[in-house]
Amino acid sequence: MPITDLSHAVTDGPVSGTVPGEKNAIAQRVIVLLDRLGRLTRELQFADGLNPAQWEALRFLAQANRYSRSPTALADYLGATKGTVSQTLIALESKGLITRCKKTEDRRQVDLCLTEAGQAMLAKDPMQTLEQATLEIADELGAEMVKGLSRLLHDLQTRNQINEFGVCQDCSLFCVNSQAALVDMNAKVGVGTCGNTGETVDAAEKTKICVNYKTAN
Ligand code: SF4
Repeated sequence: MPITDLSHAVTDGPVSGTVPGEKNAIAQRVIVLLDRLGRLTRELQFADGLNPAQWEALRFLAQANRYSRSPTALADYLGATKGTVSQTLIALESKGLITRCKKTEDRRQVDLCLTEAGQAMLAKDPMQTLEQATLEIADELGAEMVKGLSRLLHDLQTRNQINEFGVCQDCSLFCVNSQAALVDMNAKVGVGTCGNTGETVDAAEKTKICVNYKTAN
């Protein structure tokens, strides 16, 4: 069955087993469900005067680490052109939801930050509807579903040479500092070093998403 023929993909029957016909049916159902969820979540994000790209940009900037709060990283994350991202940033800036400042260590680089109004807007994130619905069935979905979807995303990103983004604690470049190094740096337990920059990453920052993330293969 061609991938574009989705008319038979959604049925009420059980999804089980891995015999060839069933495997094909499962793959088709996953495609339809992901596509429909994607369309629905896009629709939800025309809210409070913002569009989906603007909401995504706010969400990204709230979670991005110090290497990733730039227009280039945002364009990479959204899979959008620099021109499109520039329009998104201009709109958010004119609404007073973000600010741009020069990075202290490199004045040529721009650091994008949420303003207080941006933080307040995020508290009204329309994706909370999906989060609440997912929470209600989290036990049913289980860790296997998360693992499967993560693998699917990773495979597609690799095949299409799209930057992955991820957090330090899952990154192959992250080194947890030894006790000796911690004493040396007068640092707290939980910090590590970024293998890409050699800089210290503290406990709060290691859970933020990074443009330089490298998954362990
Ligand atoms: S360890 Fe990996 S995820 Fe963390 S800052 Fe370095 S490159 Fe980014």
